[in-house]
Order: sequence, then C-alpha cells, then structure tokens
Amino acid sequence: MWLTQDLPCVISGPCSVESPEQIRDTAKQLSQNSKVSILRGGIWKPRTRPNSFEGVGEIGLKWLKQAGIEAGLPVATEVATSRHVELCLKHNIDVLWIGARTTVNPFSVQEIAEVLKGTDIPVLIKNPINPDINLWIGAIERINSVGITKIGAIHRGFSSFDKTAYRNAPMWEIPIELKMLCPELPILCDPSHISGNRELIKSISQKALDLELDGLMIETHFNPEIAMSDAKQQLTPHQLSIVLSQLTFRDKQSLNENVVNRLEQLRQVIDELDEDLLNKFASRMSVIEKIGKYKKENNITILQLDRWEQTLKNRLFIAEKAGLNADFTKKLLELVHQESIRIQVEVMNETNPKTAIKISDKNFE
Ligand code: PEP
Ligand code: MN
Repeated sequence: MWLTQDLPCVISGPCSVESPEQIRDTAKQLSQNSKVSILRGGIWKPRTRPNSFEGVGEIGLKWLKQAGIEAGLPVATEVATSRHVELCLKHNIDVLWIGARTTVNPFSVQEIAEVLKGTDIPVLIKNPINPDINLWIGAIERINSVGITKIGAIHRGFSSFDKTAYRNAPMWEIPIELKMLCPELPILCDPSHISGNRELIKSISQKALDLELDGLMIETHFNPEIAMSDAKQQLTPHQLSIVLSQLTFRDKQSLNENVVNRLEQLRQVIDELDEDLLNKFASRMSVIEKIGKYKKENNITILQLDRWEQTLKNRLFIAEKAGLNADFTKKLLELVHQESIRIQVEVMNETNPKTAIKISDKNFE
C-alpha cells in the first residue's frame, strides 16, 4: 500500500489554514506526536452559506508548506478546481484531497483529473455528500484513469435529512462495501466531519480501526475556540495525542496460536449456524409454497393483513426475549415476508398464467 509503512496513517491539522502562526504552531505541536504522518489544512473552504470564512486562498499554500517543512511533515490540502490543482503543484503541496462537495460532481472531478495528468501526486477522494457508492467509485476511476496511482478514499459520513447524533451519518456499510469492491484501495476515516463535535471523535475512530480502515484524518487547531471554521469539532494537538493513545490498534491477524485456534473454533460454529439458518429458510419457503398452492386450489386470497400483523408482533416478542435487536428483527422478518409473497405470487402465476397478477404490496402471506 502506497500510503505509509506504519498503518494506520494519521493526517491531522486545522480545518482551515488561517495565518502563518496558526498553522506553524499547530504543525509544531503535531510533529511531537510520532503517529501523525501528514499535516492537513484547508486553503479554499467550501462553505454552505455565503459570507462565511472561505479560506485564505493561494497565500496560505506558502504558509502550509513552510509549516510542514519546519515540522518535518508532508502537507495536504483540498482542491475543487483545476486552478487549485495548478497552484498546489506550483507550491509543492505533497498530497491533494477532493472534498465531499466536489466528488458529487463528475464534471468537476474530470476537470481536476485533466490537470493531474502527467503528475504522480497522491490524491485522496472523500465520499460524496449523498450516500451513493457509485459516485465515489466514479470519482476514483476518473482520477485513476489519468495515470494517478497513489489514490486513497476518505470516509467522512453522509448528509441526511433525519436528525442523528452525527453531523454526517457514518453509514458504515458503504465504506465496507467499497473495501470489498476495491481491496487494494487505502480507506481512511474522517471522524471530525462525521461527528461535528469533539466528543464522538474517539468512538468513531475506534470503530474505523475495528473495521480495518487504513487511517484517520482528524482536525486539530492550536486553539479550537478561535478557529474560523469547524470550531466545535477540532481538537488541540494535545487532545489528539490523548485520543490516539486511548485507541486500541488491533492486529489484523493475531500471532498468538491460542487466539488463532479459539477464533477458528468460533468461526466454525458460525459456519454451522449459518448453514442451519439457510436450511431453515429453505424449509420455511417450501411450506410457503404449499400454502400458496393450497390457497389457490381453495380460492382463498393471499391477502392476509391480520395474519402478518399478528406474526410480526409474535416474532418481535420472541426475538426480544432472545435478546435480539428489534430493528434487526423487523428488517429480517420483512425480508422473509417479501420473499414468501414472491413465492406465493409465482405459484399463482404458474397455475393460471392468463390471470397472472403483479403484486408488490408487502401485506400478504
Ligand atoms: C474539510 O476537510 O475541511 C472539509 C471541508 O471536508 P468535507 O469535504 O468532508 O466536508
Ligand atoms: Mn472542516
């Protein structure tokens, strides 16, 4: 993996570069932490509303680079246009990242890709604001297709209309899917933009490490109280050291033979349980097929709303007693129910194709 020898890679620094002193002091304090390997700082800030601080612009690239040199750290910043890329290359910025608001727009990503042609600068691509894995993959492909090979993804959570504890809902299933689709791609997590506040940063970071993500991007400021953007979510470099020291960096593979054996035993139990579960589902579905045939032969409608409500209530009760999560149980039962309906509709269509009906409503069984 190109990212760094010592995984996980920690990228840290302020949301925005504000002044030469601010970035220099923050970088200096960060450099005392051996876990930090890249200094970040935003130069052009994509703000939701106008008249907010929109970054210091080109002059900040000099301050960022100089702070990185003094601290002995490579530097990274966000680019959103081809002009940004040109200026970053001119000022020898070491790593670029594409922000969430840019990843959503294939025109912008393509424009950035065009000016990157012929360089081999590392590029990190944040997930798009909306939970669309294909947009994320598309942006990665666009950057890769101009010859950039040092590519990483950053999971920074997804905007959602629902009120959640997070500024951007993590929706972990999306980075996990990306990891499965692109096993060679380093994926970092940005707990700062997921949480939107300091308090959740540690738990999100731990979760990212437990899911075997390859690094963390965490915003820090020498004095977060006076930060010109994202003040609530920035840590001091000292607080970052505390958070990092409290995280458990688990091994992907344990070298201890006992641990390996025990894990193997448990996995075998899981394999057997999964097989049992699938066989039970198959048995259930064959009974469903019989019910379908029986209803058809006896001219009984398959709409059984009461029965479904009763079933759900009863199963949720059993599940609760068994210690299963209610949400999980409900989703599982609904899925099973939908499949049961599909089978019954198929049975009906088989026996009387002329009067075949199309049913997608869930309330049958
Ligand atoms: C940032 O990193 O400061 C930033 C603006 O991030 P995002 O694109 O994830 O909102
Ligand atoms: Mn920020």
